[in-house]
Amino acid sequence: MSTEDHEGAPAPRRSIAVISHPDAGKSTLTEALALHARAISRAGAVHGKSGRAGVVSDWQEIEQQRGISISSAALQLRFEDTVINLLDTPGHADFSEDTYRVLTAVDCAVMLLDAAKGLEPQTLKLFAVCKARGVPVLTFVNKWDRPGKEALELCDEIEQRTGLVATPVTWPVGHAGDLRGLLDPTTGAVTTYHRAPGGATLAEERHLTPDEATAELGDVVEDARDQAGLLPEVDVESFLAGRTTPLMFGVALTNIGVHQLLENVVRLAPAPGPRPTADGGVREVDAPFSGVIFKVQAGMDRQHRDQVAFLRVQSGVFERGAPVIHAQTGRTFATKYAATVFGRDREVIDLAYPGDVVGLVNATSLAVGDTLHDPDGPPVRFPPMPAFAPEHFVTARAADPGRAKQFRKGIAQLAHEGVVQLLISPDRGDGEPVLGAVGPLQFEVVGFRMEHEFNAPLRTQRLPYEIARLVTGSDAELLAGARNVEVVTRADGARLALVRDRWHLAALRRERPALELPELLVTP
Ligand code: GDP
Repeated sequence: MSTEDHEGAPAPRRSIAVISHPDAGKSTLTEALALHARAISRAGAVHGKSGRAGVVSDWQEIEQQRGISISSAALQLRFEDTVINLLDTPGHADFSEDTYRVLTAVDCAVMLLDAAKGLEPQTLKLFAVCKARGVPVLTFVNKWDRPGKEALELCDEIEQRTGLVATPVTWPVGHAGDLRGLLDPTTGAVTTYHRAPGGATLAEERHLTPDEATAELGDVVEDARDQAGLLPEVDVESFLAGRTTPLMFGVALTNIGVHQLLENVVRLAPAPGPRPTADGGVREVDAPFSGVIFKVQAGMDRQHRDQVAFLRVQSGVFERGAPVIHAQTGRTFATKYAATVFGRDREVIDLAYPGDVVGLVNATSLAVGDTLHDPDGPPVRFPPMPAFAPEHFVTARAADPGRAKQFRKGIAQLAHEGVVQLLISPDRGDGEPVLGAVGPLQFEVVGFRMEHEFNAPLRTQRLPYEIARLVTGSDAELLAGARNVEVVTRADGARLALVRDRWHLAALRRERPALELPELLVTP
């Protein structure tokens, strides 16, 4: 399906991600969005196409076993004249590093809340990432078909816990659990819904003028108008500046409010714009082609043990087949194997525009944070993707010593993808590396993939460290002979000191006051 309009100019783009706590309804909302907008393509869709249920990648297998979403990929939708790139973010806190990388590749986030639960821990963490990155946030309150909090109470909670002032785009007519319709506070008009069974088809809508709504719904619509009137109107400038969040209500399960969400993604979310570069400048969208790798993933298809690097186009036009420069090596990179789709559903992509996501198949030389750019344009590099401070550590070795080669290859691959951080300790050597993770589930992914993909089952042992600090200046000499500390080297050459806990760190600093040990980037 074409992503161009009739004149051959690219259709406008919006690149968004939904952030939510597990169970708030992200998968349901994603399906509902795909139903309202035409899905152009899916990259790494969690479920295979119907009728091909047997085609399940290893990746999906572990997701299904655990019931969690680990991989991040993109779904491209077309709504009216706009192409919407919807990037998936893993919901589980243990994959927050992954989520952070995805959020670097979007221009707007949709914060999805469960009407009964309000702001949950993972929503807040993800929100903090958006705030740190300057990503504006739209809010969608889901599950209004179930008893839940009062709408105004939710607005207070949003303001108190995120600092964002909610500005209603829609307002529910009726309490949570008794949804009579959605009010447009600016016009006073109300849309009512006749629920479609199971959400399989679009809910039937009726549009009532303000007078019709008053006549048909009475006091309940007056109450909704009064409540919505207590809040400020939607304001684009303060939304883009991260001070307000346009607020919508709905029921993802029966598609209620989903159309308004799409309309407002198009209306309010910013189009892809200039992106900051590593040298402190910006790359304008109309500059020659450039893009950044925000995710690398392998083993998604049992038939093809290949690695896919996800590129967000930052400027210009990506043309499949055109050679580009890999900024980190200066080498030419062939883009022949560019796809928008994964596994058996992989589909070749020929052109992509700023905001789009391209999967580069078998791009083993590309790592997260790398830049690709047009050979003729001025060279450019985007800022490196930050690595979070690991908080969990294990040692790993091949359960079968005869598989040491596969073990090394597999661990190196998984570290390259960013699944875990590979840390080499001089005492243990690379036959027994230390693996560092932000969340312990990352180790499970490593164990599973080492066994199933690399045929090298692991033996891991927990290490008693909780803190990693950067070793700088004379830290290494100062740490010589210290107990409960291990100095390891990360793949990028940085040396890290692994310390048991903050009491041990404080004790170390008392004993050796000259220690610097600056902090690594910590997860918000
Ligand atoms: P995720 O973990 O955020 O992807 O959440 P899911 O989309 O898997 O939804 C979690 C559960 O909530 C599922 O049982 C859904 O059917 C249910 N759910 C999602 N949206 C709604 C909704 O609008 N109303 C109700 N009642 N249930 C919903």
